[in-house]
Amino acid sequence: MTSGVRLLVLGKQGAGKGTQAVRIARHYGVPHISTGDMFRAAAAARTQFGLKAKEFMKRGELVPDDIVIGVVAERLAKDDAVDDGFVLDGFPRTRMQAEELQRLLGPGGLDAAVDIDVPTDVVLRRLSGRRVCRTCGATYHVEKPPKVDWLCDRDGGDVVQREDDKPEAIGRRLELYEQETGPLLDFYEGLGLLVIVDGVGELDDVFNRILDAVETVRQFRLSAPRGQR
Ligand code: AMP
Repeated sequence: MTSGVRLLVLGKQGAGKGTQAVRIARHYGVPHISTGDMFRAAAAARTQFGLKAKEFMKRGELVPDDIVIGVVAERLAKDDAVDDGFVLDGFPRTRMQAEELQRLLGPGGLDAAVDIDVPTDVVLRRLSGRRVCRTCGATYHVEKPPKVDWLCDRDGGDVVQREDDKPEAIGRRLELYEQETGPLLDFYEGLGLLVIVDGVGELDDVFNRILDAVETVRQFRLSAPRGQR
């Protein structure tokens, strides 16, 4: 069993962040913490907070920083994340969130920030064709639909287009990525934590590239004298 890691995954919407983050988390035996999943679950449960988040999500807007930071801080304080580590997916998305995360974790609190790099025309194609199971979140594509009549292969749930994968919301989400999230690459590069991985290609190939990159960073950190970690 490989020991835990503390990672975050960056990348444009449709870069394969979610899929890869789940696999990395499983590989290292750490929780996968996706702010998008947490908001969607809260919206489905119709909690007050979930309904508020849903309004922003539907339009492709970002949920306000104070709400997001509160939710993540609470999740990171749970035993599994404290003891084993985590893979953060979809957080941080703004400079303020990134700074707050540094404050929460303290120096040396993160092993790496992995950017899954995919050109905009490729993510546009992926997002506009993406369909998801309403029940379990499994993803499909119009070119690779479920076997039977838009019912999920796993649990038979309805497979639909996410509200925020509709054209207007996609445009807004990518614009926000450029403005708010793109600059985080410089932020993490400045901290010596940025790892860029080519996200074009088969899922397994991208996953192996990520693992190689993360292992290289981990070996380096483990071999560095304590004060430099
Ligand atoms: P995702 O599944 O990561 O694409 O997230 C779906 C939506 O949830 C985003 O378009 C935002 O509206 C909201 N969201 C998720 N994570 C964050 C975050 N870190 N900051 C602000 N909004 C977020």
